[in-house]
Amino acid sequence: MCAVRSKRATMGEECAGRDGPRPRSTLTGVGGAGLLTGSMMGERREPIGESDVAQTVEADGVDRERMRKNPHLVPKSLVRPASKRTRDWKRRTLIGATGTALGLTGAAYAAYRAAPGFWKNFYADLHRPLLDPASIPNPSLWPDTGAHAAWLGHSTVLLKVNGFTILTDPIFSDHAGIHLGMVSVGVKRQTRSALEPEDLPPIDLILSSHAHRDHLDVPSLRWLQSPETTVLMARHTSNLIRGLQFKEVRELGWGDRTRVGPASVLGTEVNHWGARMRVDTYRGYNGYRIEVDGVSILFAGDTAQSDAFRGLRSRKPHSLVIMPIGAYNPWIRYHCTPEQAWTMAAEAGFEFLMPVHHQTFALSQEPSHEPIERLLRAARGHEDRIALQEIGQEFHLG
Ligand SMILES: [Zn+2]
Ligand SMILES: [Zn+2]
Repeated sequence: MCAVRSKRATMGEECAGRDGPRPRSTLTGVGGAGLLTGSMMGERREPIGESDVAQTVEADGVDRERMRKNPHLVPKSLVRPASKRTRDWKRRTLIGATGTALGLTGAAYAAYRAAPGFWKNFYADLHRPLLDPASIPNPSLWPDTGAHAAWLGHSTVLLKVNGFTILTDPIFSDHAGIHLGMVSVGVKRQTRSALEPEDLPPIDLILSSHAHRDHLDVPSLRWLQSPETTVLMARHTSNLIRGLQFKEVRELGWGDRTRVGPASVLGTEVNHWGARMRVDTYRGYNGYRIEVDGVSILFAGDTAQSDAFRGLRSRKPHSLVIMPIGAYNPWIRYHCTPEQAWTMAAEAGFEFLMPVHHQTFALSQEPSHEPIERLLRAARGHEDRIALQEIGQEFHLG
Protein backbone atom coordinates (compact mmCIF):
# COMPACT_ATOMS: atom_id res chain seq x y z
CA MET A 1 0.00 0.00 0.00
CA CYS A 2 1.38 3.35 -0.90
CA ALA A 3 1.41 5.70 2.06
CA VAL A 4 1.94 8.83 0.01
CA ARG A 5 -0.60 8.24 -2.69
CA SER A 6 -2.85 11.20 -1.80
CA LYS A 7 0.02 13.75 -1.83
CA ARG A 8 1.44 12.33 -5.05
CA ALA A 9 -1.89 12.84 -6.66
CA THR A 10 -1.69 16.55 -5.92
CA MET A 11 1.77 16.63 -7.45
CA GLY A 12 0.49 15.05 -10.59
CA GLU A 13 2.87 12.15 -10.20
CA GLU A 14 2.35 8.48 -10.14
CA CYS A 15 3.16 6.17 -7.33
CA ALA A 16 3.77 2.66 -8.52
CA GLY A 17 4.64 1.12 -5.15
CA ARG A 18 8.01 0.12 -3.66
CA ASP A 19 9.23 -1.68 -6.75
CA GLY A 20 7.85 0.76 -9.28
CA PRO A 21 9.33 4.00 -10.55
CA ARG A 22 10.18 6.49 -7.78
CA PRO A 23 8.90 10.05 -8.00
CA ARG A 24 11.77 12.53 -7.84
CA SER A 25 9.85 14.70 -5.38
CA THR A 26 10.30 12.02 -2.71
CA LEU A 27 14.05 12.53 -2.71
CA THR A 28 13.57 16.26 -2.28
CA GLY A 29 11.38 15.82 0.76
CA VAL A 30 13.62 13.33 2.49
CA GLY A 31 16.61 15.55 2.06
CA GLY A 32 14.74 18.24 3.95
CA ALA A 33 15.89 20.76 1.39
CA GLY A 34 12.47 21.91 0.45
CA LEU A 35 11.98 22.39 -3.25
CA LEU A 36 15.57 22.82 -4.40
CA THR A 37 16.05 19.58 -6.24
CA GLY A 38 12.64 19.60 -7.71
CA SER A 39 13.07 23.17 -8.88
CA MET A 40 16.33 22.30 -10.55
CA MET A 41 14.55 19.55 -12.39
CA GLY A 42 12.02 22.02 -13.67
CA GLU A 43 9.01 20.38 -12.04
CA ARG A 44 6.04 22.22 -10.68
CA ARG A 45 6.07 21.72 -6.91
CA GLU A 46 4.11 22.39 -3.78
CA PRO A 47 5.70 22.57 -0.36
CA ILE A 48 5.52 19.35 1.62
CA GLY A 49 5.59 19.28 5.36
CA GLU A 50 7.27 17.27 8.09
CA SER A 51 4.50 14.72 8.15
CA ASP A 52 4.98 14.10 4.48
CA VAL A 53 8.60 13.37 5.14
CA ALA A 54 7.73 10.93 7.82
CA GLN A 55 5.27 9.18 5.58
CA THR A 56 7.73 8.99 2.78
CA VAL A 57 10.39 7.56 5.05
CA GLU A 58 8.01 5.05 6.44
CA ALA A 59 7.08 4.03 2.96
CA ASP A 60 10.68 3.31 2.20
CA GLY A 61 11.17 1.22 5.29
CA VAL A 62 13.76 3.45 6.93
CA ASP A 63 13.76 4.02 10.64
CA ARG A 64 11.78 7.20 11.21
CA GLU A 65 13.76 8.15 14.32
CA ARG A 66 17.07 7.88 12.49
CA MET A 67 15.75 10.07 9.73
CA ARG A 68 14.57 12.71 12.14
CA LYS A 69 17.99 12.82 13.82
CA ASN A 70 19.75 12.98 10.52
CA PRO A 71 17.68 14.66 7.84
CA HIS A 72 20.50 14.08 5.30
CA LEU A 73 20.10 10.33 5.50
CA VAL A 74 18.65 9.10 2.24
CA PRO A 75 16.88 5.78 2.05
CA LYS A 76 18.80 3.33 -0.10
CA SER A 77 15.80 2.69 -2.21
CA LEU A 78 15.68 6.36 -3.20
CA VAL A 79 19.28 6.52 -4.42
CA ARG A 80 19.04 6.23 -8.12
CA PRO A 81 21.62 3.72 -9.42
CA ALA A 82 24.21 5.05 -11.89
CA SER A 83 23.20 4.56 -15.49
CA LYS A 84 24.94 1.91 -17.57
CA ARG A 85 26.64 4.61 -19.59
CA THR A 86 28.06 6.19 -16.43
CA ARG A 87 29.24 2.84 -15.14
CA ASP A 88 30.92 2.09 -18.49
CA TRP A 89 32.58 5.50 -18.55
CA LYS A 90 33.96 5.03 -15.03
CA ARG A 91 35.22 1.56 -15.87
CA ARG A 92 36.90 2.75 -19.05
CA THR A 93 38.48 5.71 -17.23
CA LEU A 94 39.84 3.44 -14.52
CA ILE A 95 41.21 0.96 -17.06
CA GLY A 96 42.73 3.80 -19.13
CA ALA A 97 44.40 5.46 -16.15
CA THR A 98 45.75 2.15 -14.90
CA GLY A 99 47.03 1.26 -18.37
CA THR A 100 48.71 4.64 -18.80
CA ALA A 101 50.40 4.40 -15.40
CA LEU A 102 51.59 0.87 -16.13
CA GLY A 103 52.73 1.91 -19.63
CA LEU A 104 54.77 4.85 -18.34
CA THR A 105 56.29 2.74 -15.60
CA GLY A 106 57.11 0.01 -18.09
CA ALA A 107 58.58 2.47 -20.61
CA ALA A 108 60.74 4.07 -17.91
CA TYR A 109 61.92 0.65 -16.75
CA ALA A 110 62.63 -0.47 -20.34
CA ALA A 111 64.54 2.76 -21.04
CA TYR A 112 66.61 2.23 -17.91
CA ARG A 113 67.30 -1.45 -18.74
CA ALA A 114 68.29 -0.56 -22.31
CA ALA A 115 71.02 1.87 -21.23
CA PRO A 116 71.58 1.97 -17.47
CA GLY A 117 74.96 3.64 -17.91
CA PHE A 118 73.39 6.48 -19.88
CA TRP A 119 70.77 7.16 -17.20
CA LYS A 120 73.29 7.01 -14.36
CA ASN A 121 75.44 9.53 -16.21
CA PHE A 122 72.34 11.59 -16.95
CA TYR A 123 71.41 11.91 -13.28
CA ALA A 124 75.02 12.51 -12.25
CA ASP A 125 75.27 15.20 -14.93
CA LEU A 126 72.24 17.04 -13.60
CA HIS A 127 74.14 17.92 -10.43
CA ARG A 128 77.63 18.32 -11.89
CA PRO A 129 78.83 21.91 -11.56
CA LEU A 130 80.44 23.56 -14.58
CA LEU A 131 84.11 24.48 -14.41
CA ASP A 132 85.12 28.10 -14.81
CA PRO A 133 87.12 28.95 -17.93
CA ALA A 134 90.83 29.53 -17.50
CA SER A 135 90.42 33.20 -18.47
CA ILE A 136 87.72 35.75 -19.17
CA PRO A 137 88.40 37.72 -22.35
CA ASN A 138 87.63 41.41 -22.53
CA PRO A 139 86.78 42.32 -26.13
CA SER A 140 85.73 45.82 -25.08
CA LEU A 141 89.45 46.59 -24.87
CA TRP A 142 90.22 45.38 -28.38
CA PRO A 143 91.13 48.22 -30.76
CA ASP A 144 89.43 48.68 -34.13
CA THR A 145 92.65 47.89 -35.94
CA GLY A 146 94.50 44.61 -36.19
CA ALA A 147 93.15 41.09 -35.68
CA HIS A 148 91.95 39.90 -32.29
CA ALA A 149 90.41 36.63 -31.19
CA ALA A 150 89.15 34.83 -28.10
CA TRP A 151 88.18 31.17 -27.70
CA LEU A 152 84.86 31.10 -25.82
CA GLY A 153 84.60 27.29 -25.74
CA HIS A 154 84.10 24.34 -28.11
CA SER A 155 84.08 25.81 -31.64
CA THR A 156 82.89 29.27 -30.62
CA VAL A 157 85.51 31.89 -31.45
CA LEU A 158 85.04 35.64 -31.32
CA LEU A 159 87.08 37.48 -33.95
CA LYS A 160 87.55 41.15 -34.63
CA VAL A 161 89.47 42.17 -37.73
CA ASN A 162 89.89 45.89 -38.31
CA GLY A 163 86.67 46.50 -36.38
CA PHE A 164 84.65 43.80 -38.21
CA THR A 165 83.32 41.21 -35.72
CA ILE A 166 82.78 37.51 -36.48
CA LEU A 167 81.46 34.71 -34.29
CA THR A 168 81.94 31.05 -35.26
CA ASP A 169 79.51 28.23 -34.36
CA PRO A 170 77.99 29.99 -31.33
CA ILE A 171 76.90 27.74 -28.47
CA PHE A 172 76.24 29.21 -25.02
CA SER A 173 73.76 26.61 -23.77
CA ASP A 174 74.76 24.27 -20.95
CA HIS A 175 73.77 21.31 -23.12
CA ALA A 176 74.53 20.42 -26.73
CA GLY A 177 71.28 18.68 -27.51
CA ILE A 178 67.54 19.08 -27.61
CA HIS A 179 65.93 21.98 -25.77
CA LEU A 180 62.29 21.65 -24.72
CA GLY A 181 61.36 24.77 -22.81
CA MET A 182 63.10 24.58 -19.43
CA VAL A 183 64.36 21.04 -20.09
CA SER A 184 67.47 20.23 -22.13
CA VAL A 185 68.61 16.74 -23.02
CA GLY A 186 72.08 16.23 -24.41
CA VAL A 187 75.73 16.39 -23.57
CA LYS A 188 76.38 18.82 -20.73
CA ARG A 189 79.28 21.25 -20.85
CA GLN A 190 82.39 20.61 -18.81
CA THR A 191 83.37 24.27 -18.76
CA ARG A 192 81.08 27.28 -18.93
CA SER A 193 81.35 29.69 -21.83
CA ALA A 194 84.03 32.32 -21.35
CA LEU A 195 81.49 34.99 -22.32
CA GLU A 196 77.71 35.08 -22.32
CA PRO A 197 75.81 36.54 -25.28
CA GLU A 198 75.15 39.79 -23.39
CA ASP A 199 78.91 40.25 -22.92
CA LEU A 200 79.59 40.23 -26.65
CA PRO A 201 80.11 43.28 -28.82
CA PRO A 202 77.68 43.75 -31.75
CA ILE A 203 78.34 40.89 -34.18
CA ASP A 204 78.60 41.60 -37.91
CA LEU A 205 78.89 38.02 -39.14
CA ILE A 206 78.03 34.59 -37.72
CA LEU A 207 79.57 31.55 -39.41
CA SER A 208 77.68 28.27 -38.95
CA SER A 209 79.70 25.29 -40.16
CA HIS A 210 77.02 22.56 -39.96
CA ALA A 211 73.87 21.44 -38.17
CA HIS A 212 75.31 19.17 -35.47
CA ARG A 213 73.96 20.21 -32.09
CA ASP A 214 77.36 21.06 -30.63
CA HIS A 215 77.75 23.62 -33.46
CA LEU A 216 74.28 24.85 -34.38
CA ASP A 217 72.50 25.69 -31.12
CA VAL A 218 69.17 27.36 -31.84
CA PRO A 219 68.76 29.01 -28.38
CA SER A 220 72.17 30.63 -28.79
CA LEU A 221 71.26 31.98 -32.21
CA ARG A 222 67.95 33.21 -30.79
CA TRP A 223 69.86 35.22 -28.17
CA LEU A 224 72.06 36.66 -30.93
CA GLN A 225 69.25 37.89 -33.17
CA SER A 226 70.03 41.35 -34.52
CA PRO A 227 69.15 43.41 -37.60
CA GLU A 228 72.88 44.18 -37.89
CA THR A 229 74.05 40.55 -38.12
CA THR A 230 74.45 38.37 -41.22
CA VAL A 231 74.50 34.58 -40.84
CA LEU A 232 76.30 32.30 -43.29
CA MET A 233 75.33 28.63 -43.13
CA ALA A 234 75.95 25.34 -44.88
CA ARG A 235 73.57 24.21 -47.62
CA HIS A 236 70.12 23.04 -46.44
CA THR A 237 70.57 24.13 -42.84
CA SER A 238 69.00 27.61 -42.74
CA ASN A 239 65.51 26.14 -42.24
CA LEU A 240 66.62 25.24 -38.70
CA ILE A 241 66.61 28.94 -37.74
CA ARG A 242 63.64 30.00 -39.85
CA GLY A 243 61.78 32.79 -38.08
CA LEU A 244 64.81 34.21 -36.29
CA GLN A 245 65.43 37.88 -37.02
CA PHE A 246 68.77 38.63 -38.63
CA LYS A 247 69.84 41.13 -41.25
CA GLU A 248 70.28 38.23 -43.68
CA VAL A 249 70.77 34.47 -43.68
CA ARG A 250 72.67 32.98 -46.61
CA GLU A 251 73.66 29.41 -47.43
CA LEU A 252 77.03 28.61 -48.96
CA GLY A 253 78.33 25.44 -50.58
CA TRP A 254 81.92 24.37 -51.16
CA GLY A 255 83.62 26.81 -53.51
CA ASP A 256 80.87 29.46 -53.12
CA ARG A 257 82.05 33.00 -52.41
CA THR A 258 80.15 35.86 -50.90
CA ARG A 259 80.85 39.26 -49.42
CA VAL A 260 79.64 40.56 -46.09
CA GLY A 261 80.77 44.13 -45.40
CA PRO A 262 84.56 44.21 -45.78
CA ALA A 263 84.82 40.39 -45.55
CA SER A 264 85.18 38.05 -48.51
CA VAL A 265 84.05 34.56 -47.48
CA LEU A 266 84.66 31.26 -49.26
CA GLY A 267 82.85 28.01 -48.35
CA THR A 268 85.47 25.25 -48.15
CA GLU A 269 85.40 21.45 -48.26
CA VAL A 270 85.86 19.45 -45.08
CA ASN A 271 85.56 15.72 -44.32
CA HIS A 272 82.54 15.34 -42.08
CA TRP A 273 78.77 14.88 -42.35
CA GLY A 274 75.77 17.10 -41.82
CA ALA A 275 72.74 15.17 -40.52
CA ARG A 276 71.14 16.61 -37.39
CA MET A 277 68.54 13.84 -37.00
CA ARG A 278 70.40 10.87 -38.60
CA VAL A 279 68.11 10.72 -41.63
CA ASP A 280 68.61 14.31 -42.87
CA THR A 281 71.87 13.47 -44.57
CA TYR A 282 71.14 16.03 -47.30
CA ARG A 283 72.41 18.84 -45.05
CA GLY A 284 75.72 20.41 -45.97
CA TYR A 285 78.84 20.94 -43.85
CA ASN A 286 81.43 23.62 -44.42
CA GLY A 287 84.67 25.19 -43.49
CA TYR A 288 85.13 28.90 -44.28
CA ARG A 289 87.99 31.10 -45.40
CA ILE A 290 87.49 34.75 -44.46
CA GLU A 291 89.61 37.57 -45.79
CA VAL A 292 89.37 41.07 -44.33
CA ASP A 293 91.84 43.77 -45.39
CA GLY A 294 94.61 41.28 -46.16
CA VAL A 295 94.07 39.20 -42.99
CA SER A 296 93.16 35.63 -43.92
CA ILE A 297 91.48 33.30 -41.42
CA LEU A 298 90.53 29.67 -42.08
CA PHE A 299 87.81 28.17 -39.87
CA ALA A 300 87.74 24.40 -40.44
CA GLY A 301 84.44 23.66 -38.66
CA ASP A 302 84.36 19.92 -37.94
CA THR A 303 86.56 17.64 -40.03
CA ALA A 304 88.28 14.31 -40.15
CA GLN A 305 91.57 13.96 -41.98
CA SER A 306 91.26 15.32 -45.52
CA ASP A 307 93.46 16.22 -48.47
CA ALA A 308 91.13 19.12 -49.29
CA PHE A 309 93.20 21.58 -47.23
CA ARG A 310 96.03 21.33 -49.77
CA GLY A 311 93.77 23.06 -52.27
CA LEU A 312 93.57 26.14 -50.03
CA ARG A 313 97.29 26.81 -50.12
CA SER A 314 98.35 30.09 -51.66
CA ARG A 315 101.49 32.18 -51.78
CA LYS A 316 100.57 33.94 -48.55
CA PRO A 317 99.86 31.65 -45.59
CA HIS A 318 96.67 32.05 -43.60
CA SER A 319 97.13 34.45 -40.71
CA LEU A 320 95.17 32.12 -38.43
CA VAL A 321 93.79 28.60 -38.90
CA ILE A 322 91.11 27.48 -36.44
CA MET A 323 91.23 23.68 -36.27
CA PRO A 324 89.22 21.06 -34.32
CA ILE A 325 91.50 18.73 -32.36
CA GLY A 326 89.14 16.68 -30.12
CA ALA A 327 86.46 13.95 -30.20
CA TYR A 328 88.56 11.53 -32.30
CA ASN A 329 88.32 8.45 -30.05
CA PRO A 330 86.48 6.47 -31.36
CA TRP A 331 85.07 8.94 -33.92
CA ILE A 332 88.18 9.03 -36.10
CA ARG A 333 86.00 8.83 -39.23
CA TYR A 334 84.52 12.25 -38.41
CA HIS A 335 87.10 14.06 -36.28
CA CYS A 336 90.80 14.44 -36.92
CA THR A 337 93.50 13.78 -34.36
CA PRO A 338 95.68 16.68 -33.12
CA GLU A 339 98.51 15.41 -35.35
CA GLN A 340 96.25 15.35 -38.41
CA ALA A 341 94.98 18.85 -37.54
CA TRP A 342 98.56 20.14 -37.44
CA THR A 343 99.37 18.48 -40.77
CA MET A 344 96.22 19.77 -42.54
CA ALA A 345 96.86 23.31 -41.28
CA ALA A 346 100.43 23.04 -42.56
CA GLU A 347 99.15 21.86 -45.94
CA ALA A 348 96.83 24.89 -46.14
CA GLY A 349 99.67 27.15 -44.93
CA PHE A 350 99.43 29.06 -41.66
CA GLU A 351 101.16 31.47 -39.33
CA PHE A 352 99.18 30.54 -36.22
CA LEU A 353 96.90 27.65 -35.32
CA MET A 354 94.03 27.99 -32.84
CA PRO A 355 92.94 24.55 -31.53
CA VAL A 356 89.22 24.23 -30.70
CA HIS A 357 86.59 21.47 -30.25
CA HIS A 358 88.06 20.14 -27.00
CA GLN A 359 87.79 20.74 -23.21
CA THR A 360 84.13 21.84 -23.51
CA PHE A 361 81.83 18.87 -24.21
CA ALA A 362 82.86 15.28 -23.45
CA LEU A 363 81.84 13.86 -26.84
CA SER A 364 84.33 11.01 -26.90
CA GLN A 365 86.58 8.82 -24.82
CA GLU A 366 89.94 10.57 -24.87
CA PRO A 367 90.83 12.43 -21.65
CA SER A 368 89.95 16.10 -21.67
CA HIS A 369 93.52 17.41 -21.90
CA GLU A 370 94.92 14.74 -24.21
CA PRO A 371 94.17 16.68 -27.45
CA ILE A 372 96.13 19.79 -26.47
CA GLU A 373 99.01 17.70 -25.08
CA ARG A 374 99.23 15.73 -28.34
CA LEU A 375 99.05 18.95 -30.38
CA LEU A 376 101.93 20.45 -28.40
CA ARG A 377 103.97 17.31 -29.09
CA ALA A 378 103.05 17.45 -32.79
CA ALA A 379 104.18 21.09 -32.93
CA ARG A 380 107.49 20.41 -31.17
CA GLY A 381 109.82 23.27 -31.91
CA HIS A 382 106.93 25.45 -33.15
CA GLU A 383 104.77 25.65 -30.03
CA ASP A 384 104.76 29.44 -30.31
CA ARG A 385 102.58 29.07 -33.40
CA ILE A 386 99.78 27.60 -31.30
CA ALA A 387 97.64 30.69 -30.68
CA LEU A 388 96.22 29.58 -27.33
CA GLN A 389 95.60 26.47 -25.26
CA GLU A 390 92.79 27.21 -22.77
CA ILE A 391 89.19 28.37 -22.94
CA GLY A 392 88.86 32.12 -22.51
CA GLN A 393 92.34 33.03 -23.69
CA GLU A 394 92.82 35.84 -26.20
CA PHE A 395 95.06 36.02 -29.25
CA HIS A 396 96.20 39.20 -30.99
CA LEU A 397 97.79 39.63 -34.40
CA GLY A 398 99.68 42.88 -34.96
ZN1 LIG B 1 79.96 17.71 -36.37
ZN1 LIG C 1 81.55 18.84 -33.36
